[in-house]
Amino acid sequence: MIDPPRPAAELRQVLIIGGGVSGLAAAYELRDSGLECTLLEASGRLGGVISTENVEGCLVEGGPDSFIAQKPWALELIRELGLGDEVIGSNDSLRRTYILRDGRLIALPDGIQFLAPTKILPLLETSLLSPRTKLTMALEWFRRPSPAQDDRSVAEFVKDHYGDEANEYLAQPMLAGVYGGSPEQLSVDSVLPRFVELERKYGSLSRALFLARWKQRRPSGAASPLFLTLRGGMQTLIDALEQAIRGRVRVALGAQAQVVRRAEGRFEVEVANADPLRADRVIIATPAWRAAELLQGQDPSLAEQLGAIAYGSCVTGALVYRRPEFTHPLDGFGFLVPRAENRTLSACTWVNTKFNDRTPADKPLLRAFIAGDKADAHLAATDAELAGRVGGELQQIMGFAAQPVASSFSRWRRSMAQYQVGHARVVGRIEELLRQRPGLYLSGNGYDGIGVPDCIRRSRAAARDILQQTAGPATVTSPPASAPRPQ
Ligand SMILES: Cc1cc2nc3c(=O)[nH]c(=O)nc-3n(C[C@H](O)[C@H](O)[C@H](O)COP(=O)(O)OP(=O)(O)OC[C@H]3O[C@@H](n4cnc5c(N)ncnc54)[C@H](O)[C@@H]3O)c2cc1C
Repeated sequence: MIDPPRPAAELRQVLIIGGGVSGLAAAYELRDSGLECTLLEASGRLGGVISTENVEGCLVEGGPDSFIAQKPWALELIRELGLGDEVIGSNDSLRRTYILRDGRLIALPDGIQFLAPTKILPLLETSLLSPRTKLTMALEWFRRPSPAQDDRSVAEFVKDHYGDEANEYLAQPMLAGVYGGSPEQLSVDSVLPRFVELERKYGSLSRALFLARWKQRRPSGAASPLFLTLRGGMQTLIDALEQAIRGRVRVALGAQAQVVRRAEGRFEVEVANADPLRADRVIIATPAWRAAELLQGQDPSLAEQLGAIAYGSCVTGALVYRRPEFTHPLDGFGFLVPRAENRTLSACTWVNTKFNDRTPADKPLLRAFIAGDKADAHLAATDAELAGRVGGELQQIMGFAAQPVASSFSRWRRSMAQYQVGHARVVGRIEELLRQRPGLYLSGNGYDGIGVPDCIRRSRAAARDILQQTAGPATVTSPPASAPRPQ
C-alpha cells in the first residue's frame, strides 16, 4: 500500500538524484520555484557523460559531441541560458560517411537515409552492396502499405525490406554508432518509429522518403545543419546550468543516494556517509538500472521493470596527430565498422571535418568509439593499451603511418540505454506504476529518448509537473545540518 503524497500546499522539498544533464535540467526548471531543491551527485563533478577537455590544444568531447537539430529541446534551453550565439552546426556540405567492408572504406551511397536508398544511380554504382541487395532494394519501391504489427527487432524489419546484407552493412554499424546496440535486439518501434509509420502508410520506405525529400526540397539548396553543438564544447551547457542554479539549488557532490523509500507521505533518501534526507518529491535522474537499485527492496515491482531496461557500455578515445606526418585527407565525417569486419572499433569521427575550429590547423583529431560487448572488454584497459590498439586499427583502416602525439580515453560503463524489443511496453508499465506513486519521477535516457534533447525534455516536464502542484511559493526550510557537502 502506497501512502498518498503530501498535499500540494505542504510541498516544500524536492530532491533530484543525479547531476548529469537530466538532473541539471530539472534543477534549472525548479530554480526559482521557492521550493527547497537539492541535487545529489555521486561523483565529484556535474555533467554525467557530458565532459569536454583540452588535449594538445584540441577540443575533445569525452561523451556526446553534439545534439540533433531536429529535436528542439536542447536548443531551447541553450537559448534560455543566453548561449544562442555559441551554437555551431556540423559542416553538412562535407558530410560523407564511410563503411568498412573487407578492410576498405567505402562511401555510403548518396541518398541513403539511415538505411533506405532514395537515389537510384549512387545505389547502382556503390561497391558496398551486392547486385542481389541492390535488386532487393529496387523492388522495395513497389511494396504496398502493411497493417500495424507487433514490435519487431530492427534486424527483422530491415531484412524484410532490404535483405540480410543491408542489415549487416547499413543498419548494424549505424545502430552501433548511435546506440551502441545491435539490430537483433533493438526495438524497431522505439528506435525507428518514423520508419514503422512509413511502412504502415506507404509500404515502401524508399518511395515514402523519396517523396518526402521531393516535397521538402529547397530552392537555394541551403539546408540547416543536422547536428548542433556549442563552440566551447558540450560542457559549456553544463557550466551554464551550474551557473544558473547556483545559490538557488543546493548541489551536493560526492553524495551517492543509496535507497529511496516512502515514509509518512514523504520520501526518505539514504545517502552514503551522511544522514538520510527527506523530501516531498523525488526526481531520479540516473540510468534506469541505478534507479532500480535505489528502489530495490522498497518497491520491487517498479525496480523489476526498471531493471528490465538494458544498458550498454562504451569507450571513446581522442587521438591527436600532427601534419605533415598525418597524410589522410579526412574527406568526410568519419566511418562505421560493421561487426562482420571483426575490429575493436565501432566507429570513428573525423572531428576536423565535422566541426570547424576544434583543433589547431596542423593537428587532426580522430574520435574513436568502441561500443557494446567490445566496450565491456576494454573498460579495464589502460590508456596506453587503448592507444596502442585503437591507434593501430586507425592506421590500418585509414592507411596512414603517423603515431598520435596525444590521446585521451573516456570509459562509460552501462551508460547507453538499449531500447530492446518490447521497450515501449516496459515503459508503459513504468508510467502506470509511477501514476500509482505520485511524487516520484524518473528521468534520464532509459525511457523515451536517449539523446541530450530528449533527456532535457523529460526532465523539464517532470519539474513542471511538480511546479504545477505548488499553489504559490512555499516556505523554504533550512537544510538539515547533516546534509552532504553542499557546493
Ligand atoms: C559516449 C557517448 C556519446 C553520446 N553521444 C551523444 C550525442 O552525440 N548526442 C546526443 O544527443 N546524445 C549522445 N549521447 C547520449 C546522451 O549523452 C546521454 O543520454 C545523456 O547525456 C544522459 O544524461 P543523464 O543526465 O540522463 O545521465 P548521465 O549523464 O549518466 O548522468 C547521471 C548522473 O547521475 C549520477 N548518479 C548515478 N547514480 C547516482 C546515485 N545513486 N546518487 C547520486 N548520483 C548518481 C552519475 O554520477 C551521473 O553524473 C551519448 C552518450 C555517450 C555515453
